[in-house]
Amino acid sequence: MLTEPVEGTVLAVDRYRAPWPQRRYLRARDQHCRFPGCRRAAIRCEIDHTIDAARGGPTALGNLAHLCRRHHSMKQFTRWRVRQLARGALEWTPPTGRVSREDAPAPPVHFLPEVSRPPF
Ligand SMILES: [Zn+2]
Repeated sequence: MLTEPVEGTVLAVDRYRAPWPQRRYLRARDQHCRFPGCRRAAIRCEIDHTIDAARGGPTALGNLAHLCRRHHSMKQFTRWRVRQLARGALEWTPPTGRVSREDAPAPPVHFLPEVSRPPF
């Protein structure tokens, strides 16, 4: 198991199934299926190895992403291609090969507008 030294985030493990701390991190990072435009909640998705584990893809944050069952199958059985860029961004290439679409996760820090309190 490889962990980030300061925060203890589980970066990689030497087995196929992601352990719970890694799955929890990915769920927070991805929030939903990572196929462009799909918003199926991560909790209802499968965790995909971007580079298949059978082809040597590691069980590491930089190689894992949530995909709903439909898009997971599409990735595995059609000519759509995906590669993972920095910070969990995915670059999708359709079978035509002409267009690549990037799906980046939401930034980990969100700033919310200040909520005014009632005067009483
Ligand atoms: Zn999907």
